[in-house]
Amino acid sequence: MVHFKSCRTLKTCPEFVLITFDDGINVLNIETYRRILYNRLNKDGCPAGTTFFINHEYTNYQLVNELYNNGFEIALHSISHQTNQQ
Ligand SMILES: [Zn+2]
Repeated sequence: MVHFKSCRTLKTCPEFVLITFDDGINVLNIETYRRILYNRLNKDGCPAGTTFFINHEYTNYQLVNELYNNGFEIALHSISHQTNQQ
């Protein structure tokens, strides 16, 4: 919970860091997301969240559902967006 009423000086203002990830969720990256995001709390004790912008290619929807069930936001990165492969 953020207490904006106590935000009278820079020292007491809440700090926000927004983290997003994009492209496919699959067995190649889910372990990294589990390790760095699961059970991570903000200073106030609230769970730290992130938004995943998912595209269709290379996405495992069972793993997307796992992220959603763990409280992360799932957003659309288009169904046709393709990962840059060079
Ligand atoms: Zn992308």
